[in-house]
Amino acid sequence: MTLKAGIFGYPITHSISPAMHRAAFDHAGIDAVYEAWDTPPNALARGVAKLRGDKYLGANVTAPHKRAVMEHLDEIDELATRIGAVNTIVNDGGRLLGSNTDAAGFIDSLKDEAGLTLSGLDAALIGAGGAARAAAYALAMEGARSLTIANRTLERARTLADEVRRMGLEARAIALDDDGLLERCLEAHLIVNSTSVGMLHGPSEGASPIPPEFIRPGVVVYDMVYNPADTPLLKTARARGAEVVGGLPMLVYQGAASFRRWTGLPASTTAMFEAARQALNNMNNPPKDFDR
Ligand code: NAP
Repeated sequence: MTLKAGIFGYPITHSISPAMHRAAFDHAGIDAVYEAWDTPPNALARGVAKLRGDKYLGANVTAPHKRAVMEHLDEIDELATRIGAVNTIVNDGGRLLGSNTDAAGFIDSLKDEAGLTLSGLDAALIGAGGAARAAAYALAMEGARSLTIANRTLERARTLADEVRRMGLEARAIALDDDGLLERCLEAHLIVNSTSVGMLHGPSEGASPIPPEFIRPGVVVYDMVYNPADTPLLKTARARGAEVVGGLPMLVYQGAASFRRWTGLPASTTAMFEAARQALNNMNNPPKDFDR
């Protein structure tokens, strides 16, 4: 029997997860397909219910369903419950288990790409949405020393800061346009963009969430946006002598963690990186139809 997995999202046409996971299944010699399931909100319950069937390993979940999917699952692990978002579902003999691998993807990508462990460091996190929540929990779990969360909507940053403070992390919230953010960024070892600012085809394409003077030489600047690979923030950071990490490694490592949960096997991150880069390249440079 060919096994199945896939990703729920809406819209989902531009996802590179299918290419990445197919490469991992092929590399591991597993007879499985991975599909992109374009799922409007009113079709989510029906789509998730299908996962209980024998042939389904499970699924990934992306925007806008990471929170909404939780009510359709049988069990949700503690981290996903705290983050308030599920990005991975495992079909365990008809029972659906939800978890969140974004935090692991964030931690593993920083270790592998920048040789950075989060223990004891001071971080500035731009954004307070789902991806930021995963990063903040990762920083708290890994023993970071301090965290400044800056968000356009201050209230969301406050809520998240309160939560991670309860885990022992010295956290504070600040508005994205607050003058105090400059100092916090200059003091930080790590600056993370977890907003969609800079994303190709997004409303803030071509923009950076922080101005150049917020970036000092030697700081690690991490941009969760993975398309384009080289965002305006990363270009500026590199020019100012910062070390930069793009969003693709996080995508690959969260995917590898999902793969491990479905199959019990490690994923080839090398195969996944290669497929993800190729898929991004194809998406951004579609073949031209010379006959027209
Ligand atoms: P989300 O929950 O919708 O949160 C979006 C965040 O971006 C919020 O903090 C929002 O601020 C902020 N924002 C949006 N437009 C803004 C603007 N013009 N100026 C300032 N702030 C703005 O989305 P998400 O799931 O966290 O995803 C955020 C980004 O991370 C996306 O680009 C996504 O592709 C990326 N991501 C990457 C990975 C990866 O593996 N690399 C994983 C997850 C997400 P408000 O609260 O004020 O609205």
